[in-house]
Amino acid sequence: MMISVVIPLYNEEENVQPLLDELLPVLDGMKLAHEVILVDDGSVDATGARIAAARAAHPDRIRHIALERNTGQTAALDAGFRAVRGDVVVMMDGDLQVDPRDIPRMVEHLQGWDMVHGWRWQRRDTFFKRIQTRIANRVRNVLTGSDVHDTGCPLKVMRREVVERFRLFTGLHRFLITLARMEGFRTLEVKVAHRPRLMGTSKYGLLNRVFRAFRDLFAVRWMMARHYRLEARELGVEGAPKDLRKGVESEGRAG
Ligand code: UDP
Ligand code: MG
Repeated sequence: MMISVVIPLYNEEENVQPLLDELLPVLDGMKLAHEVILVDDGSVDATGARIAAARAAHPDRIRHIALERNTGQTAALDAGFRAVRGDVVVMMDGDLQVDPRDIPRMVEHLQGWDMVHGWRWQRRDTFFKRIQTRIANRVRNVLTGSDVHDTGCPLKVMRREVVERFRLFTGLHRFLITLARMEGFRTLEVKVAHRPRLMGTSKYGLLNRVFRAFRDLFAVRWMMARHYRLEARELGVEGAPKDLRKGVESEGRAG
């Protein structure tokens, strides 16, 4: 089994090295093959240089993907997802707000699930941001018929098949649980630690988080309403027919 950790970074120069100082020992402790894919989302500070230095120090396990221009968190994650080589994909933010030490437990839970996602227990964000998220989660749950406490938690662990199924658009990184469930994957929520952001700044404010996410919610609702299960085979050809399937559970672990 190999683990691929995907981390989007936009102007996080002070966080790259502290992040790796925490993450790499955790991965070492898991005694599994791994790679860390650092995706520079068009940063204009020294993020790219810091990633390059880290790769020079650990060429065997750090990969450096650079977006031509700042394209957004979803796009940066997508670039990383397309590059993964592991069978287990971990996604997390690069600002150290989640704790890499939660990863091993989440990977263990993946035994019986397709995606294990965090619930930031005791959020360490401003009161204003916590209120925004609480309302956003409530509204999202009502409109998507879901019961997840923290859909926006940046720490998620998935089988590679899950990320291969994603067709992403800007903003959809906030809806990955819904998108995975829509495709028939089974998801589990587990409590994870949360810490205040010590360095760098948040890339979102009220306008580009709450209002955009609200609008995106209707797109996701539309996708759910229009989603179909496709089970089809080509007949009359030699050999085993190619399976033309979409959103169909894979032997007993989706549903
Ligand atoms: N990020 C990114 N591209 C962007 C905005 C953010 O790659 O256009 C990254 C950012 O560097 C961080 C993660 O996405 O690693 C989450 O961003 P942030 O911490 O600002 O979000 P918040 O925690 O405030 O929701
Ligand atoms: Mg953050």
